[in-house]
Amino acid sequence: MSNVLLKVDNLKKHFPKKTGSLKRNISYVKAVDDVSFEVYEGETLGIVGESGCGKSTTGRMIMRLLEPTDGTIQFNGVELSTLSKTELRKTRRDIQMVFQDPYASLNPRHTVRKILEEPLIVHGIGTAKERKERIEEYLEIVGLSAYHAGRYPHQFSGGQRQRIGIARALMTNPKLIIADEPVSALDVSIQAQVLNLMQRLQEDLKLTYIFIAHDLGVVRHISDRVGVMYLGRLVEIANSELLYKEPLHPYTQALLSAVPIPDPTFEREQLIISGDIATSTPEAGCTFHLRCPYATEICKMEVPNLVTVKPGHSVACHLMNETTTMT
Ligand code: SF4
Repeated sequence: MSNVLLKVDNLKKHFPKKTGSLKRNISYVKAVDDVSFEVYEGETLGIVGESGCGKSTTGRMIMRLLEPTDGTIQFNGVELSTLSKTELRKTRRDIQMVFQDPYASLNPRHTVRKILEEPLIVHGIGTAKERKERIEEYLEIVGLSAYHAGRYPHQFSGGQRQRIGIARALMTNPKLIIADEPVSALDVSIQAQVLNLMQRLQEDLKLTYIFIAHDLGVVRHISDRVGVMYLGRLVEIANSELLYKEPLHPYTQALLSAVPIPDPTFEREQLIISGDIATSTPEAGCTFHLRCPYATEICKMEVPNLVTVKPGHSVACHLMNETTTMT
């Protein structure tokens, strides 16, 4: 087993919300609630769930773009909250982000050269000549050309813009890249090209990825392990093959029911869930109990813990607790 690069423990982000007719009462939206996982060096951990499940908030807390309400984030064995501003800035070189909408995340008034040079200047990397060489080298690495450096974001297609976003993330030689829905805004035909590029870069540059997506189909081929989130909680995490073959959480089963199966000999039981994702966590019990076809009384009262049901496969569901207690 590789080294643990990132360790997230009991991470929480609760946003205050004013309620009541006079807006004097404060309640909390639990965007991320007690989430724990590890990311191993060189792997891709996919994090999947519907919009509002807390996956992007988790990514932003790891980047320290958002301050956690509680919990710890260790990167390379160092707890990020204990770092001074200078130390945190140095660590930021090692953790970079690729955003969903490459157009919105690239300054339209800056040339590609300026966009790619910015992280190098911020982190004091290289002389002007070295920075120029590095920018041209990385444009080639992501499948563009050195002459693209003088152009502006609007002169590129969506796929090319995402290649620029990836090049920008690579400028500081990071160890971990958090890719937040990096292909969701792209045409299906372009998605595969960008995913292939990311896989090639991972091998060549020994990168570790957290790949955030709303669609299990997208993360399937790129992820070594996949975690599924629902309303701020991690409800299942397993290596990819196990998760796709034997999803155990009812929500994962429902998500997978929506993914087409390329192998006609493989049959999967269909689980269709009703209702839309709720916007706030239920007062008590399992976050999924309002939509779950298997919900029982205990599901309305107690939050199920994430328990390991077999090596490399953990699930948060009272049904699993019953099964593991019985065996
Ligand atoms: Fe469904 Fe209960 Fe399991 Fe939640 S704990 S997923 S409500 S069976």
